[in-house]
Amino acid sequence: PASPERKRFTPDELGFDPDDLRRKYRAERDRRLRPDGAAQYRRAAGEFGYYATDPYTDRVERAGVRDRVEAVVVGAGFGGLLTAARLREAGVQEIRMVDEAGDFGGTWYWNRYPGIHCDIESYEYLPLLEEVGYVPKWRYAPGEEIRQHAIAVARHYDLYRDTLFHTRVTELRWDEDASGWQVRTDRGDEFRARYVVVSSGTLTQPKLPGIPGIETFRGHTFHTSRWDYGYTGGSPDGGLDRLADKKVGVVGTGATGIQVIPHLGRDAGQLYVFQRTPSSVDVRGNRPTDPAWAASLQPGWQRERMDNFLTIVTGGHADADLVGDGWTSTGRLQRQMLSGIVDTGLPVEDREYFDEIADFRKMNEIRARVDEVVTDPATAELLKPWYRYMCKRPTFSDFYLQTFNRPNVTLVDTADFGGITRMTENAVVVGDREYEVDCVVFATGFEVGISGILSGTLPVYGRDGTPLLQSWSQGPKTLHGFYSHGFPNLFHLGSLQNATAVNFAHILQEQATHIGAVVAEARKRDARYVEPTAGAQEAWVATVRANARDTSAFLTECTPGYYNNEGKPRPAGNSFAPGPIVFHDLLRRWRTDGGMDDVLVGA
Ligand code: NDP
Repeated sequence: PASPERKRFTPDELGFDPDDLRRKYRAERDRRLRPDGAAQYRRAAGEFGYYATDPYTDRVERAGVRDRVEAVVVGAGFGGLLTAARLREAGVQEIRMVDEAGDFGGTWYWNRYPGIHCDIESYEYLPLLEEVGYVPKWRYAPGEEIRQHAIAVARHYDLYRDTLFHTRVTELRWDEDASGWQVRTDRGDEFRARYVVVSSGTLTQPKLPGIPGIETFRGHTFHTSRWDYGYTGGSPDGGLDRLADKKVGVVGTGATGIQVIPHLGRDAGQLYVFQRTPSSVDVRGNRPTDPAWAASLQPGWQRERMDNFLTIVTGGHADADLVGDGWTSTGRLQRQMLSGIVDTGLPVEDREYFDEIADFRKMNEIRARVDEVVTDPATAELLKPWYRYMCKRPTFSDFYLQTFNRPNVTLVDTADFGGITRMTENAVVVGDREYEVDCVVFATGFEVGISGILSGTLPVYGRDGTPLLQSWSQGPKTLHGFYSHGFPNLFHLGSLQNATAVNFAHILQEQATHIGAVVAEARKRDARYVEPTAGAQEAWVATVRANARDTSAFLTECTPGYYNNEGKPRPAGNSFAPGPIVFHDLLRRWRTDGGMDDVLVGA
């Protein structure tokens, strides 16, 4: 318990009563908790599989591939692209990328909904800008510009050559005699590779709400990550002219919904926004890149800006805030969730107290903005988020809240019903009210961590045919998250036992750089295997565990969502809690201080 002399603000000093807010937050959480938790969702598979098919590129039949390459990279999003680029720089000639999409870009391939933008500043989000010689045209780049940049990176590093699109890797099997991996795919391919890199992403598979009667709806439906421009007209820039005479329903008000809804509001005859939990919507301030600024950039500028942003959003000190946006201004709050508590010298309960007060202030600002923008007081009340800032992905928009002032836009709150009650042939029902609609757009997000090694959808058999998940039955075992003993020459990208931060493109870049450096050294030493010693792996698992920060108390108080496993938070995070700044420094020192000796075998 806090000793009496510790500073505690009175409600008069604060202008609000923290106890009132705590009670309100809890009540808003409680009315949204569902006993079925994450089981409420449906996979876009089986009878709902058409929700996940590729609307952008035709699938072309082809013969199975049977050959040998030096490296296979599973996943052609930014993680895969960055690693392939670094492998190229390390001298690797045959690099085969494999992806279920029809082209490069990962999430930016799939998501092309109207209004799509990156909500992190593009100058530090788009990777390899200096390498490719590009400066984004907008501060927050539209999705198509980002997708084109992914293609430019692929061309720059000559990565189209051996790549297989519309292909899913179905099995990785280590072949000791050949000192390499046997790779099988759903297109009948069976090829070999010395190295395998898995970068299959986390939010990849669209999910649908398990609304009773969803299959009986006769109108048009699709998921935001497979936008049907044939039906709506227009493009990612908007202009959805075929919706002018349509009644449209949109389900979901997360980071995607916030970007889509202004366009639907502008172009649909009538729009119903079915909201369960409102997002926090902060100021955006997008603007075209100033050509004079772009021309003034000196070599190394992107690295400097990325480092500056990462430092600030993880609660570190930087002399100047080069980015100065909504993310950096709330860096203090980010720090709590994303990088653990930085040592301020205060007792833990004091730091938590001050963090909470700062959080209340921030959220009060966000709620006040709703009142400033939204003219109808009842609608404004429904749009206010009552939870702590990092309970949900923060969002930013200068158009979203304004949309609710349009006469053709109706906000329908579903919180008391756990979401939409049911769907009929021609309507969405909430409680006992029916909303007749021609079309329903699902902005309902993605399954978390469904792809890749951890989920079991990509079976991996290492030395002696041991399944990777079996060897991890007591918990994941890696060195730095990248590789595991018994699974030579296999690299994994992601936040598992590695770092995480809001600019995940930065995290992926550090991971790619590290893998590139290890492979370069393996080639130099002519090492047969890249494989951590059991000792080095054990030490890292112990380090992650010793530093683990249990965020479940924080997450339990949050309204449900994918951040807290729909109200049932998992006990401790999987990533290295001291955060990316500490972790990247640790990796740099590891590379120069003899760490390679722990992973390069058979030189
Ligand atoms: P989310 O999972 O964040 O949002 C899904 C939405 O659907 C929520 O508002 C949810 O409500 C709602 N929902 C689900 N089921 C129902 C139901 N039965 N009835 C009513 N509403 C329902 O998905 P998003 O696609 O918005 O975002 C996913 C992630 O993708 C983001 O968190 C972010 O990481 C990333 N992203 C990044 C962008 C960028 O610019 N960098 C842009 C867009 C997305 P509830 O909250 O109550 O569950």
